[in-house]
Amino acid sequence: MTHIDPVELTQALIKCPSVTPKEAGALDLLEDILTQLGFDTTRLPFSQEGTPTVDNLYARIGKEGPNFCFAGHTDVVPAGRTDQWSAPPFEALIKNDVLIGRGAADMKGAIAAFVAGAGDYLSSDHHQPTKGSISLLITGDEEGPAINGTRKMLDWLKQRGETIDHCLVGEPTNPDKMGEMIKAGRRGSINGWITIHGKQGHVAYPHRAQNPLHAVADFLNHLTNTPLDEGYNRFQPSSLQITEIESNNPAHNIIPGDVKIRFNVRFNPHWTGERVAQWVREHLDNAKEETGFDYKLETIISGEAFLTTDDDYLSLLSDCVERATGKKPELSTSGGTSDARFIQRDAPVAEFGLVGATIHQIDEQTAVSDITLLKDIYADILKNYFYHYGNAS
Ligand SMILES: [Zn+2]
Repeated sequence: MTHIDPVELTQALIKCPSVTPKEAGALDLLEDILTQLGFDTTRLPFSQEGTPTVDNLYARIGKEGPNFCFAGHTDVVPAGRTDQWSAPPFEALIKNDVLIGRGAADMKGAIAAFVAGAGDYLSSDHHQPTKGSISLLITGDEEGPAINGTRKMLDWLKQRGETIDHCLVGEPTNPDKMGEMIKAGRRGSINGWITIHGKQGHVAYPHRAQNPLHAVADFLNHLTNTPLDEGYNRFQPSSLQITEIESNNPAHNIIPGDVKIRFNVRFNPHWTGERVAQWVREHLDNAKEETGFDYKLETIISGEAFLTTDDDYLSLLSDCVERATGKKPELSTSGGTSDARFIQRDAPVAEFGLVGATIHQIDEQTAVSDITLLKDIYADILKNYFYHYGNAS
């Protein structure tokens, strides 16, 4: 069995400049190594009009259930100002035991740890008496529109009758130190635009116009004065945030005809995206009645909220993390969305990866020892998972 060095593999992956939606050799490299480890691999390029074509990779070793799946993405966000990096973003240099590079923490380090951890487990004695499969669901479309990635891969799996029993996403979940946090659920997110319609006119003749900017305060009062809820299970309260107000008006002497308000709501499983939109509409209707100004509401749901409730699985993960780090990880639902929002429809899913403090920043980095530690944690999770769920004899 080939032994994989997770640090060297992280470096090799970073050297593939797979800025979303580019593959840049990252999936080729993984496919090659996984094949050597005995995995069956399938490349899954997907396209859709108006979106970039994206390449993805599914790999599986074993024919029977349970199927334990590691999920992640090889695409990365752009490097930004390369002159501000203390080491070139795609050269993966190690300085004082810290690996610097775009994707080091989000999340090529974790993908390397998936592969090396699986390699360690497969070559260990624990592997032999258990049954089950290990799979990797690796997308190139997480940092992009997330249309031609995980979602379509899951549809493809379903079509061929293949199931995932439990999934672990390798997003960087730890705020500052390894072992601090497992994510076991995520808030939903909805983006919205409200256009308040007035009547354009000359500022000197306001009686011939209707100034929609004067109605903004009333509309916002209705939206922001009532909390959506007081929290739900492990979730904080849902929150509506106004992100922009614009009237596109360059002139001093014009009362603008329209004003547009942009907002986002992060919501807990007390809501669906649809019901949040309805809540917003009801409050806007009250403002309309009070002010006499008509409005238009547009919304796009970018993800529904979910909570992972498989306590057996969560405590297995938590125990493995605690054994390796000495810390009992918090089970959290905080932060932004991830592809776990798609996977949760098909299987219990949790997320655990590296430290996320520098993700998407200049000088994204990860401690070299954290990558090795994560590899050991993943290998231990496989051992315990198959011992527990794989009917070890
Ligand atoms: Zn990520």
